[in-house]
Amino acid sequence: MSRSSARTTTRSRWVLGALVVGLPLSLLPATATAGATPAPTPSPAPSSSASTSRHGGGWHGHPTDLPKVPVMKGGGGAVSSVDRDASQVGIDVLRRGGNAADAAVATAAALGVTEPYSTGIGGGGFLVYYDARARRVSTIDGRETAPATFTSKSFTDPSTGKALDFTTVVNSGLSVGVPGTPALWAKALRDHGTLSLNRALAPAEQLARQGFVVDQTFADQTAANAARFSVFPETARVFLRDGKAPAVGSTFRNPDMAKAYRTLRTQGVSALYAGSMGRAVVAESRSPHTDGSSVMGGQLTMRDLRAYRALTKAPIHSSYKGFDVFGMPVPSSGGIAVAEILNLMRAYEKATGVRTSALSEADYLHRFSEASATAFADRNRWVGDVPGVPVRQLTSPAFAAERACLFDPAKAQPRPIPFGSPDGRYTSCAPGKAAQPEPYEGLSTSHLTVMDRWGSVASYTLTIEQTGGSGITVPGYGFLLNNELTDFNFTPLTPGVPDPNLPGPGKRPRSSMSPTILLHEGRPFLAVGSPGGATIITSTSQTILGYLDRRLSLVDAIRAPRLSSRNGSSEGAEPQILDGPVGAALRAKGHVLAPGAAAPAVNEIGAVTAIRYLGHGRFEAAAETTRRGGGSAMVVQPSRHQRH
Ligand code: GLU
Repeated sequence: MSRSSARTTTRSRWVLGALVVGLPLSLLPATATAGATPAPTPSPAPSSSASTSRHGGGWHGHPTDLPKVPVMKGGGGAVSSVDRDASQVGIDVLRRGGNAADAAVATAAALGVTEPYSTGIGGGGFLVYYDARARRVSTIDGRETAPATFTSKSFTDPSTGKALDFTTVVNSGLSVGVPGTPALWAKALRDHGTLSLNRALAPAEQLARQGFVVDQTFADQTAANAARFSVFPETARVFLRDGKAPAVGSTFRNPDMAKAYRTLRTQGVSALYAGSMGRAVVAESRSPHTDGSSVMGGQLTMRDLRAYRALTKAPIHSSYKGFDVFGMPVPSSGGIAVAEILNLMRAYEKATGVRTSALSEADYLHRFSEASATAFADRNRWVGDVPGVPVRQLTSPAFAAERACLFDPAKAQPRPIPFGSPDGRYTSCAPGKAAQPEPYEGLSTSHLTVMDRWGSVASYTLTIEQTGGSGITVPGYGFLLNNELTDFNFTPLTPGVPDPNLPGPGKRPRSSMSPTILLHEGRPFLAVGSPGGATIITSTSQTILGYLDRRLSLVDAIRAPRLSSRNGSSEGAEPQILDGPVGAALRAKGHVLAPGAAAPAVNEIGAVTAIRYLGHGRFEAAAETTRRGGGSAMVVQPSRHQRH
């Protein structure tokens, strides 16, 4: 996004001192590096990133604001997000001696201001974190939970047993889950960070109060939501200007959201989970104020909020060509599906004797499509927030080898591909069980990545589900409530086949969010992820494959035209594929291509951010060059001569 904040900040000199605290990653072995994480320098709260200054692209030797570019190399740590202001907030935290957890939380909070339709206090998300001190990858599950009163039939009409209308549920209190994002922030800081929540949220509060400059994307997103926002007078008051989107170039301030951040800073997250902010969330979601339109209320109670916990979970761990791949476990399907896709790509290489790197673009994408569709078939059947998900089997090379036997280099398998049996007995070429339709998932979200100079890594995807969430703004607090509960399947995907993703009491809806970290020989190597509903899984996998196998530079792996095969009747393809020879070659193999589902108006899929560690204390941050208006990749100390 190209929003820049609305004012210029004078930066204090003490930050230069912070640069020499501790030894840089390059000079220390991993263990010692981790131990050298400095205590946070006694410091004022990080100042806002706010600045309209623009520089040509080089490091000028001063702690100053960085340009909005899709790739930047250098030292001192790195941040990549979709938004310049947010990336700058993270860089400022790193520059002042904060670590990756501190910067991830501060960046996420800033995204809550500048990307309020995709992320924020009212939503949830997943963090995968490599803690260089502990030399361990762990995850935090900040997914929203359903009310305790929910049942498997909460999204059906009691008189007919049929699924409720999807759009009606989206724009209602019934879709609102207990927000997990503030709890995740607090836990990430407690477990891995050095800053208090008070300090980590200070830049976001300032950004909300002082405002940012509206860009085309923000204006377009507002305009696209104007009709449904108008149903909720508080949402219209906060986000619309005379019922319309604010003008491009105008300053957008959200003093109510500044108050929300201030409340969290001064009262802690108990303000949400046990206090006045929480009471406002409960009241508004149960009985939304409307313009007179009839809108369903939800079932959240203070008891649900009090019961909420962000959870530490072991990551999904798989290996791919000598790299350790860590992803998000249940209730996200992201880590499992990415692992299965990579395992399948490896299995196809073994089965055919032809490496992915040696393939034409069309043959590569054919393999990628088959692998993705297969992984979606399996995750739809087996993955949800239920006990007994066969994680080890789904992510095992042996299961992938069995699933790969159906692969034909010349021909696409008919969709939907039947799901497999991850039962540990992989001697035959199993044809698969039943074929299931593709469930619907929303199209919003944001991903950010951070590496600090000590080698800790944050890969963090956060969302309020659909762009604009439920459309309901919490009165007086300026943030939108999620509609994450619509990620549950309303009715079983296939009658008679168990569906792990039906709603239930306190249950977390299945996600596709795929924050991913790759280590190489125990060292940070790559952090990557994307927004985009179910296309998150394919965008993340395609970027990893593009970088590792197709030998693209990181930014080119991000830039590459995307294909998203999710086992539906057609697969999403961006224009370069859809309208070119690669698309023709794919069609000749039987693929049914359609514009990418993630953003039908512009046919873009995903908005990846990534960082790779280059060694010797240097980093390469990368982001989208054009999708969603381009992302913002930054390092603390850019190289004088950037080589892209
Ligand atoms: N709710 C989706 C998920 O958890 C993310 C929404 C999106 O990216 O659009 O997978």
